[in-house]
Amino acid sequence: MSPQETSDFQTRLVEWFHQHQRPLPWRIHYDPYEVWVSEIMLQQTQVTTVLPYYQRWMEALPTIHSVAQADEDTVVKLWEGLGYYSRVRNLQKAARVICDDHGSVFPQDFETILALPGIGRYTAGAVASIAFNQDRPVVDGNVIRVVCRLEDLRDDPKSAAMTKRLWELAADWIPSGEARYFNQGMMELGATVCHVQQPSCLLCPVQSFCKSYHAGSVDQVPAKVKRVKSKLRTTLMALIHKDGSFLIQKRPVGQLMGGLWEFPNLHVTSEQKLEKSLQSEVLKQWGIQVEVKERIATIKHGYTSYKVTLHGYYCVFQSGNLKLSQDIPREWVPLKDLGQYSFPAAQVKLIQKLQKHMEILCAC
Ligand code: SF4
Repeated sequence: MSPQETSDFQTRLVEWFHQHQRPLPWRIHYDPYEVWVSEIMLQQTQVTTVLPYYQRWMEALPTIHSVAQADEDTVVKLWEGLGYYSRVRNLQKAARVICDDHGSVFPQDFETILALPGIGRYTAGAVASIAFNQDRPVVDGNVIRVVCRLEDLRDDPKSAAMTKRLWELAADWIPSGEARYFNQGMMELGATVCHVQQPSCLLCPVQSFCKSYHAGSVDQVPAKVKRVKSKLRTTLMALIHKDGSFLIQKRPVGQLMGGLWEFPNLHVTSEQKLEKSLQSEVLKQWGIQVEVKERIATIKHGYTSYKVTLHGYYCVFQSGNLKLSQDIPREWVPLKDLGQYSFPAAQVKLIQKLQKHMEILCAC
């Protein structure tokens, strides 16, 4: 774009943002803590999904200090269902750094923001520009799509050369002193108008600047990147009942979904002899003899890198002493209290099935 076109484009986009932005709670005060939490929650997650989590989080933890003071189980529970649990653990680490090193005030200096745990170039740019209105670029999935189409860039947007180009363009286009609205305008346009499929070009405020629109190439831009096929995993879950309680253990931090709780389980490659394998694995790993009664649910759930099929088996404790380990807490928890613990999303569904199963059993 020529300098004049760039200036007209900036004006058009910022005006459109002021008129058409969605009213979101973190856009009321532009408080850095609120912007930061919203940005971490929004990574890989849509606004509509994030909103109830955000409200719940702010009611429970209204300040950076309260995040720093909270115990880890509380913050993980508030995050349950959002996935990518390392994000919430890093958020808490960063809150503690802010309290210890910056007097509980979110730092304004870009390099200092970037040095906080869990904050990369995107999040640092988002907080610096949206909360502090600094002229810093942001490039997320929405911005990539919008920039590629505006400039009709057809190369793989994930390549190193394109990444560099996209960040440069996103920085060059910021109208000085307007980064807060311009950056959000780019993201909002991508989220609400310039959709992945069937973008609403006829309603687009910057259509006249869009090279892909004029070239008729919108549906080919950005270039499609080949998706890696998700791995499939089958897991048997032992829902072991003893005196009204069920056995759960905490996943070690550092593992996938570390810090969340889970039922005793076993990954299998074939669905043959499921009950027998589960019974012997529970004895081997947990040191207790159980009777595997029946399969009460089969849950299919997709995570980012794999799809899992969970077979939940209702089991009854027979004998033995539970093996305890310092690294992996194990507890017998009453059914009604399981909801207070954080589980991976697929096992939350399994708990609902277990509650129904127990209601039926008790009614018999
Ligand atoms: Fe996206 Fe269409 Fe607007 Fe171009 S004209 S930016 S493709 S919505």
